[in-house]
Amino acid sequence: MKADQYVVIGNPVAHSKSPAIHARFAELTSQQLDYQRLLAPLDGFGATVRDFVAKGGKGANVTLPFKLEAFALATELSERAKIAGAVNTLKFEPGRIYGDNTDGMGLVADIVRNAGVNLRGKRLLLLGAGGAARGALLPLLQEQPAALTIANRTLAKAQDLLQQANSLSDRCELQTCRFEDLQQPFDVIINATSASINDDVPPLAATVFSKETLAYDMMYAAAPTAFLRLAVSHGAQCRDGLGMLVEQAAEAFALWRSVRPPSGQVLAEMRAALLASQA
Ligand code: NDP
Repeated sequence: MKADQYVVIGNPVAHSKSPAIHARFAELTSQQLDYQRLLAPLDGFGATVRDFVAKGGKGANVTLPFKLEAFALATELSERAKIAGAVNTLKFEPGRIYGDNTDGMGLVADIVRNAGVNLRGKRLLLLGAGGAARGALLPLLQEQPAALTIANRTLAKAQDLLQQANSLSDRCELQTCRFEDLQQPFDVIINATSASINDDVPPLAATVFSKETLAYDMMYAAAPTAFLRLAVSHGAQCRDGLGMLVEQAAEAFALWRSVRPPSGQVLAEMRAALLASQA
C-alpha cells in the first residue's frame, strides 16, 4: 500500500528541516508516511495545495510566505489558528481542509517541558509583534503568567496584539512599550523579532536581564544569535528555537497521525547534527 503523503510548502523551501524531522518521527513511531518539500510559486499557493490534495495528499506544513494564505484556504480552523490569524499545519479530509497553528504550542512545549521552566506566575517579555509573536500569544497566556509585556519596533502593532491579549486573559497584567523603554528584569524574554536573521538585536537595556532570566530566541543557528550573545553577556540563561521547530512539528504529527512522537529524542539528534555541521 502507498504510504500517506505529506509535504512542507514554502518559497523558498529547500532549507526546511521538516522532512528530516518527520521522517525520524515516522521511524520512531512505526508510521508509514512519505514527507517531501514542495516549492509553491509565490502566486500559486492555492493551486499547489489543490493539486497535492487531488493526488491524495493527507497533510501539509506551511512556511513563509504562505501562512496567511493557508489561514484563508482552510475550511475549518483551530481556536489557536483563529487567534494567530495564520496557519502552519493543514490536514486534508474529504470535503474539509482543517487549519491549525502549532508554532506557539511548540514554543511553550520547548520552554516548559524541554527547558523545565514553568511560566505560571512569571513575568514575560515578548519582543516582536509579527506572525510568530501572534501565534505565541494564546499558548503563552494559557500558562497563566503574572505579567506579559509586548515590545515592538512599530508600537502600533504591539498595541494591536495587546488588544487581542486583553480579550484572552483577565488575570495577566498586560502592557506594551518600545524596546528603549524597558528597564525592569524579566523571568523569560522571548525574541520573536526577525532581527536575528541579520545578526541584529533590538536595543535592550542590560537591566532587563538577570542571571535567573531565560532568554529565548525563536531563531536557531549553529552559533548563538546576536540576541543570545547579548543575553549571555548579561548573565542570562539562553535557548534557541530549534526545540520550538521540533515541538511544532511533533504537534502537527500528532494531529495527522494521532500518535505523539518522541520529540525530546529527535531534538537531541537535531542538535547534535547542527553542531556537527559546524565542526
Ligand atoms: P514577521 O516578519 O511576521 O515579524 C517580524 C517581527 O520582527 C516584527 O515584529 C518586526 O517589527 C520585527 N523586526 C524585524 N527586524 C527588526 C529589527 N532589526 N529590530 C527589531 N525588530 C525587528 O516574522 P515572524 O514573526 O514570522 O518570524 C519572527 C522570527 O521567528 C524569525 O526569526 C523566524 O525565523 C522565527 N520563527 C521560528 C520558528 C521556529 O519554529 N523556531 C517558527 C516561526 C518563526 P516591525 O513590526 O516593527 O516591522
